[in-house]
Amino acid sequence: MKSYISLWPAHAPKLRFPRTLAILGSTGSIGVSALDVVAQHPDLFRVAALAGGKNAARLAEQAATFRPGVLAVLDEDVATELKGLLPGGYAPEILVGPAAYETVAALPEADLVLSAIVGAAGFLPTLAAARAGKRIALANKESLVLGGRLIRKACQASGAVVLPVDSEHNALFQALCGHNGDEELAKLILTASGGPFRGRDAAFLASVTPAQALNHPNWSMGAKISIDSATLMNKGLEVIEACHLYGLPVSRVDVLVHPQSIVHSLVEYVDGSQLAHLGVPDMRIPIAHSLCYPRRVALAMPRLDLASAQNLTFEAPDDTLFPCLGLAKAAYAASHSHPVALNAANEVAVELFLKGRIAFLDIPRLIEAALARHAALPEDCDAAELIAADNDARRETMAACC
Ligand code: NAD
Ligand code: MG
Repeated sequence: MKSYISLWPAHAPKLRFPRTLAILGSTGSIGVSALDVVAQHPDLFRVAALAGGKNAARLAEQAATFRPGVLAVLDEDVATELKGLLPGGYAPEILVGPAAYETVAALPEADLVLSAIVGAAGFLPTLAAARAGKRIALANKESLVLGGRLIRKACQASGAVVLPVDSEHNALFQALCGHNGDEELAKLILTASGGPFRGRDAAFLASVTPAQALNHPNWSMGAKISIDSATLMNKGLEVIEACHLYGLPVSRVDVLVHPQSIVHSLVEYVDGSQLAHLGVPDMRIPIAHSLCYPRRVALAMPRLDLASAQNLTFEAPDDTLFPCLGLAKAAYAASHSHPVALNAANEVAVELFLKGRIAFLDIPRLIEAALARHAALPEDCDAAELIAADNDARRETMAACC
């Protein structure tokens, strides 16, 4: 098989339990859910390191419970606040600043790294984990959007393995287990809830507020991915993520809107069979699957009851009203670095929208303009060049709108 096989189970080294875990982004939505899984199975994990951002109170609480030897935060002020909140007699090493996340990702005492920082800030730490040969449970889809090729190359060189946490890609991974080779694979079908604005018209979208956009119908998530779900950019980033993970061209990754978020994605084989993964919309399922793979563990949470579930419905996405999905596909097809500009412009636009400085429909406009400005980088460019392109697109997007 020629797909992103460094993550494939048959080639993956066995990882024994208890697994020693480092979490990048422990204070976020994914990080909190992951620690709930760990708390439900304390015999399966030792927590070696927790890296938060600026939420010292939550990180201190997590650290007091799981007692990792290493903590990381974004700046000195947060570090000082954190030190004041830790229980007496417990003195972990506290690392500070953006480079600290790369140190945590490559920590010798950790064999499993959960990459759950939000946005492009997750790229270099994920790359560091890949270079250090870790097993990586990957939630941070933006790192593949930015530098999927570099991460794949690093995995191939080091023996690192990536297991997808993103619910759709985890669903695909489960539905792909057991297939005999890429020639049997017809296409991947990513499901999308459609977000809070499914079925609305352009006039409605023109005046939606951040609070309305944050109000996702099915999933409870961080702010950035919630807005991405409302614009369908989340699905666009996920199409790119799927291309990197499973080695298929964008033309063989379809998107199907499924408002109930019960079917998490499907694989279609050449004989016409479609294999789906179903479950309640709760990230603890894919998180536990990727942290424990190949073992399945019991989870204390509501179960899917299909007899009492509402109808499961499916429809094509509205590409005209939600252009971000098409922009993401176009970026991936344009060059390997156009997704860098797409992602950077999106991060800037989402932040400006959340601050009330631009309208919802300005988000795709700013992204389209960033893609038009971007000049493709050479195929063999390195991480520093990708980061420079990311910075350029951020600066130019900011200048274009303010
Ligand atoms: P979140 O905003 O809830 O949490 C983000 C975490 O990253 C926090 O711990 C924060 O402190 C940290 N962080 C933020 N900026 C940082 C920076 N510059 N440097 C270091 N740390 C920083 O986000 P989330 O919803 O948990 O999403 C995390 C990632 O997982 C995203 O890439 C998202 O697309 C992906 N994901 C999330 C979900 C979900 O249900 N939340 C589902 C699938 C994929
Ligand atoms: Mg997803």
